[in-house]
Amino acid sequence: MKVFRAIDEVRGYLNRKKMEGRIISFVPTMGYLHEGHLSLVRFAKANSDVCAVSIFVNPAQFAPNEDFNRYPRDEARDLNLLEKENCDLVFIPSADEMYDNDHQTYVHVRKYSQVLEGAVRPTHFEGVATVVLKLFNIIQPHFAVFGQKDAQQAFIIKKMVKELNLPVEIKIRPIIREADGLAMSSRNVYLSSEERKSALVLNQALHTAKALVETGERNVAHLIGKAKEIIYQSKIAQLDYVEVVDIEIFERIETITKPNSAYMLVAARFGKTRLIDNVVL
Ligand code: AMP
Repeated sequence: MKVFRAIDEVRGYLNRKKMEGRIISFVPTMGYLHEGHLSLVRFAKANSDVCAVSIFVNPAQFAPNEDFNRYPRDEARDLNLLEKENCDLVFIPSADEMYDNDHQTYVHVRKYSQVLEGAVRPTHFEGVATVVLKLFNIIQPHFAVFGQKDAQQAFIIKKMVKELNLPVEIKIRPIIREADGLAMSSRNVYLSSEERKSALVLNQALHTAKALVETGERNVAHLIGKAKEIIYQSKIAQLDYVEVVDIEIFERIETITKPNSAYMLVAARFGKTRLIDNVVL
């Protein structure tokens, strides 16, 4: 497995692979890898000749009051996990390699960056879209793999790719969960055992909403009401939002019109840890 830290070097190497006719896949991550990330790597590896993974905790997507400094990092462990997956290449740039002191160019996917996660984290998606575009320009993959766990992020990336005519295909893979239903996240390590137990209400709320839709419920206000009831069963959950949006256009809807046409999305804080999760309704 090749490890690169310099943009010129990784680009040179991958350019040669492309000239040889190799299919390049790309999985961008912030590291502290878990089975969710590895499921994306496995998919990428199975469908390409060269699987490239990036590990970069992107300062541009964290607001000053957020957890950039304490975000979990363990490069040696990550490299070991990727090696075991037969990953071909890891790109681990420093913040200085990615951004110079006078970085001024940002990508805004306007409307969709201001709702849901964007309403709580107003500069977040500008940072995400910018770093993903930079990484796409560095790696130049044939396809890139993202998790449904960050459904709004995946939507925004797809929108950016379409509207900026980027020559990369975006693949979205399902959410990987712990045995008890908690969506895997690098941030789960922050949770105390009480918070970890409480956090199960998120998946329970989403699961209940899905079950209601499967038995014929179509009214979104009712579904959201039921989900909130479950989340409020936890005394420590501080809910940011539960919303239902159309999968294709990411806008709020009032009625579920057909199966698998909407996301129910939730974000809540447990102590200092903010978690997000979603389900297809
Ligand atoms: P992150 O390291 O949090 O930036 O995530 C890197 C990629 O892994 C993103 O595309 C995420 O959506 C995806 N991801 C994170 N958690 C999960 C999960 N539990 N299941 C599947 N994909 C995930």
